[in-house]
Amino acid sequence: MSCTRPLNMVVLAPQGVFIPLYVAAGAGDFRPTDRHVDVLKQTLSVAPVEHLRKFAGARGVIRASGRQCSPARGGGSDPAPWIRLSAVSFDDPLNRNVNVTALHEFGHCVDYLYGAMAGLRSRHPDLYRLLSGTAHTGRTQGPGETFADCYLIFVVTQLARRAYRHPADPGAYEGDRANRLFEALINSPAFDGWNGALSGLRRQAPPGTAAPPRGVSGRG
Ligand SMILES: [Zn+2]
Repeated sequence: MSCTRPLNMVVLAPQGVFIPLYVAAGAGDFRPTDRHVDVLKQTLSVAPVEHLRKFAGARGVIRASGRQCSPARGGGSDPAPWIRLSAVSFDDPLNRNVNVTALHEFGHCVDYLYGAMAGLRSRHPDLYRLLSGTAHTGRTQGPGETFADCYLIFVVTQLARRAYRHPADPGAYEGDRANRLFEALINSPAFDGWNGALSGLRRQAPPGTAAPPRGVSGRG
């Protein structure tokens, strides 16, 4: 089979935002079931709508890969932005009720679109070091991975209000340790306009970069 044969488009529209999911058109190729597609849509519906709009505005797409196509396992993403979800990831027990693979990859796209980790590093080096030092399970390592993990765990535990066990270091996302990692996430540029869960963790702007006080015109 070919990995570039004609594809069908399924519109996911989480929170009304147009996000296309491309699936194989051929009858012999892997196609996610209606249940898989529904879980994916419900999962993205929990993510901050600002992030969905940013992804859609950059013409972001999601592809359900065929069984012999890349990636063979898990997911992949690119600053283009696009997300690819492997055929096997749809049947992974971890993705049964919430597609955590898709959320991790979406976290990478949020990082790309907002320059999240680069911005955090210059704003708050202490939070950057803390988050980038978190353990991550997978061949690819680095600050992008720890951001994507933190994003996924924030959405699952704080927005969807579901339990999640971080495989690489379960204790990292319990109690106060979890809040410090979420503090890093909230203080990255990706959450600058965020008023939802844990937005109280946002720090004051450093001296010299403060916005004008409310009611004072910024013109001139
Ligand atoms: Zn990753």
